[in-house]
Amino acid sequence: MIDHNIGFIGLGNVGSKLASNILYAGYNLFIYDLDENTSNELVNKGAIWKNSVKDIIDNTSLIITCLPSPQAVTEVVEGESGMIDYINKKHLWIEMSTTDEKEMIRLSKLIELKGANVLEAPVTGGQHKAESGNISVLTAGKRENFNRAFPILSEIGFEVLYCGKLGNASTLKVVTNYLASINLLSIGEALMVCKKYGIDLKKAYQGIKISSGNSFVHETESQLILNGSFDIGFTMDLVCKDVGLFDQLTNNLNIPAEVSPLMVKIFNEGRKKYGDRALSTSIVKLLEEKCNTDLRTEGFPSRLLDKEQKKKGIEIKP
Ligand code: NAD
Repeated sequence: MIDHNIGFIGLGNVGSKLASNILYAGYNLFIYDLDENTSNELVNKGAIWKNSVKDIIDNTSLIITCLPSPQAVTEVVEGESGMIDYINKKHLWIEMSTTDEKEMIRLSKLIELKGANVLEAPVTGGQHKAESGNISVLTAGKRENFNRAFPILSEIGFEVLYCGKLGNASTLKVVTNYLASINLLSIGEALMVCKKYGIDLKKAYQGIKISSGNSFVHETESQLILNGSFDIGFTMDLVCKDVGLFDQLTNNLNIPAEVSPLMVKIFNEGRKKYGDRALSTSIVKLLEEKCNTDLRTEGFPSRLLDKEQKKKGIEIKP
């Protein structure tokens, strides 16, 4: 089946960027968010605003959700006038939120009872990669649903991995965010050691970048820490959700993790101190304040820009 009319629900920091790329690719895009103000830019580019989840479903065959929490997803699917009341066999629901695998599986069963199809496809790589259309996409669900979704996924992202049964992609996504979040905390401590020892922070950045301690998080978030904007386009409420979901997985799987609970504690402290919508990178401010020392230096950008042109998505086969 070829889907021409695409619905997109959840137009936040990353959702709005993913939606833009669907529009650039020439699809008819129908959008909805609890906050209509999030739609202005997309409507100017040609998207069609709809006032309800029902109107999105009535006008489309493929619906994408990109929502801030498992609770928000449940609300959109099962809440009053939710997806479950209107979805039918012509529809494919693609869940792009970072969410709870158990809830994902529960909701997918309800959707399938209505004859509709489901694919989970969380994205990873950050707002700048979402903007350029080069973000990575982890997918799981029935292979035929992946095949149907692929034309759209290849407009949204570049490297697309099919991970097998439903739940696998949500779990992998939470795992990779756990690793990125640990890395962020350790980068704060590493840069602080350099600063207090008297190493120029520009040299520290370069030294780490050309050595074994380098990482994706260093190459992206360290720059925003050193600039002081912290503007990664990802917020404290969302990072707390993600590290909480990872911690829940360790408990469900009886893994006696020690780092994970500590990380949950640190991010919750940051959320309490700086607020839900503070940028997640600003977690290093906790350490800066405790040390009475900041990590600012010149020559780093306030926002990240993916310098690569959009590359048409490909399926990665391990
Ligand atoms: P966000 O908090 O910036 O935006 C979420 C949007 O969803 C808001 O505009 C909000 O009004 C809307 N919303 C909430 N409840 C709703 C409801 N019931 N009905 C309709 N709209 C509703 O979030 P974001 O940064 O765009 O992230 C969305 C999802 O993608 C999250 O699960 C996040 O973890 C994941 N993600 C984010 C990034 C990133 O860099 N920001 C990267 C990868 C994955």
